[in-house]
Amino acid sequence: MSELTLSDINQAGKRVIKEVKDIQLYIDGAFVNAENHEQFDNYNPFTNEKINKVASGAEADIDKAVKAARKAFKGDWGSLSQNERLSYIYKIADLIDEHIEEIAPLESYDTGLPISQTKKMVARAAHNFRFYAEMVKSRLVGDAYQVDNDFLNYTIHKPVGVAGLITPWNAPFMLETWKIAPALATGNTVVLKPAEWSPLTANRLAEIIDKAGLPDGVFNVVHGYGETAGASLVAHEDVELISFTGETSTGSEIMKNGADTLKSFSMELGGKSPIIVFDDADFERAIDACTWGIFSFNGERCTANSRLYVHEDIASDFIAALKDRVENIVVGDPMKEDTQVGPLIHTKHYESVKSYLELAEEEGCQVISGSVPKEHSRGNFVAPTLLLNADTSMRVVQEEIFGPVIAVMTFKDEAEAVDLANNVRYGLAGYVWTKDLQRGHRVAQAVDSGMLWINSQNVRDLRTPFGGSKHSGIGREGGHYAFEFYTEVQIIHVALGEHRIPQFGKK
Ligand code: NAD
Repeated sequence: MSELTLSDINQAGKRVIKEVKDIQLYIDGAFVNAENHEQFDNYNPFTNEKINKVASGAEADIDKAVKAARKAFKGDWGSLSQNERLSYIYKIADLIDEHIEEIAPLESYDTGLPISQTKKMVARAAHNFRFYAEMVKSRLVGDAYQVDNDFLNYTIHKPVGVAGLITPWNAPFMLETWKIAPALATGNTVVLKPAEWSPLTANRLAEIIDKAGLPDGVFNVVHGYGETAGASLVAHEDVELISFTGETSTGSEIMKNGADTLKSFSMELGGKSPIIVFDDADFERAIDACTWGIFSFNGERCTANSRLYVHEDIASDFIAALKDRVENIVVGDPMKEDTQVGPLIHTKHYESVKSYLELAEEEGCQVISGSVPKEHSRGNFVAPTLLLNADTSMRVVQEEIFGPVIAVMTFKDEAEAVDLANNVRYGLAGYVWTKDLQRGHRVAQAVDSGMLWINSQNVRDLRTPFGGSKHSGIGREGGHYAFEFYTEVQIIHVALGEHRIPQFGKK
């Protein structure tokens, strides 16, 4: 097993990473190199310096991992009682909790997400495991259907087999555990293909799960590129499920590539979510929620409110308040506790977000940005930005930018607000601010989105369904909804009496 990564607090009170080892794959309970011995470099978004090298898995490694996972599914893991299996899930949660102070800095170091935010994400990761252990105990139940005195029909849930989990870089540790926890708790085995831009905490999770002592092969991590490791996982005939979180175009490519082997897919895809602020809204709270909703996680948030529709009567005051916030947001070192916005994950993504700011100007927006301290010029920093005078025909309003950038528009009345909110191909989340209760519900229900919050920021209740409509996803994660994907429902029909059976051929 590779050694654990260490971080420390320096004299200035800043958490620094002391040492990061190169990363191997985790297959069948062992840390191993890729079969072809290839590696890729991993970079720190704050300085763009190389952090370490990562084993670059490909088809042969995926095949090894899937075989190990299948063996464990048919063997050691599959033969455990539910209580025995769940005791491992609780153990993983406890180990994550013990190491929050170490995992959160690692995540910030790798992704540029501010430390105050990664600490909460890591705590949530531990909670994901505990939550799913509880859910399996209390909600993984079948139905019984009595048919008079003739039949008793009942359903049971069975694990499906090997779950292929493919995850993005924007909240890596939290999103990985959000899939791993229900997959393992329901009795499947797992091959995780984490995002290539954020491998550190996925490796740390492998070390933690190794320490928790799960049987070999139950949990495997194959790092590597999407087109090689990811695509091989999708095409593998012994992988029954693919749970994917990432871009809409990748999701559609994955569904094509998995079609020949008839897999089940769960798709958590991109978003361009609206926040609608009526003139009677609680102004200050709406400003807080709007600012947090787009600028938290450096704007790299699938449920970010990246389109603001504000009622024309309060628009100038609201925009003035937003400008004030944008100028004062603390942009800086992700390892510092007071940083609110850090650098974007990678130079390629930085260039993509920057190109949208240029496009916004070409399309006729007034682009208002905060500032990035000069000493941070080496990092992938994009200052929090407002796109004023935006309109629905623009690409910057239609496409997911996935950075700290919000398009600002106004509306006259409720019908127009709903029309504008629904005029994109995405349908992940939505936010409505009004003190009029009836209007709040009306507008919420009229917005095409998988999830909607009224007078609230994005507060998750883990029992509720998570997922998007339209091009934002297929299926739902969260609560017992995840069981529909991670288990196979079997119906068993039991004859209680002597029901009529046709007697073909009987003389
Ligand atoms: P991405 O689609 O580029 O990559 C996601 C993962 O897919 C990575 O692990 C990548 O290696 C892998 N991949 C890429 N091509 C593949 C292929 N052909 N076959 C198999 N795997 C492949 O997404 P990203 O840039 O890492 O993440 C950002 C996107 O994720 C945004 O669009 C964001 O909205 C979305 N997202 C959605 C949710 C949600 O719950 N709906 C949550 C977080 C992020």
